Amino acid sequence: MRMWMVDPFAMCNKHLLGEHVECHMFVGHLQRKRRITNYIRLNLLQPKSLRERHDQLALEMEKRGMLHKSPLPEFILSFLPEAHRIYTVNAEDSLIELSRRCSECRERLSVLSGGQEHPSSHKEE
Ligand SMILES: [Zn+2]
Ligand SMILES: [Zn+2]
Repeated sequence: MRMWMVDPFAMCNKHLLGEHVECHMFVGHLQRKRRITNYIRLNLLQPKSLRERHDQLALEMEKRGMLHKSPLPEFILSFLPEAHRIYTVNAEDSLIELSRRCSECRERLSVLSGGQEHPSSHKEE
């Protein structure tokens, strides 16, 4: 599970849908009052932004004509240690990792940043 915290517009459908589902999974995890130490250590979770991020992803899904019927349930963060509660994902590292893993996200990101790469060569359809 991971929150990429990259501009949703720049994400391919697979990663957009994946992060959306994972927001729901994180909420389930927090509802069971589980620890998030490893997620924080690995730069994967930004607890205080879960709801806002979920809603951004859901909005982008709807823009792409996908159905979204899953409002995020209530959850609390008060049981978490302060350092975890306020953790902020390093979005720059996250972006580098996402573009390393996924050629489609990489193309979208480079178009978005007016980058040098031409969005044609290795497209998987
Ligand atoms: Zn949802
Ligand atoms: Zn992708």
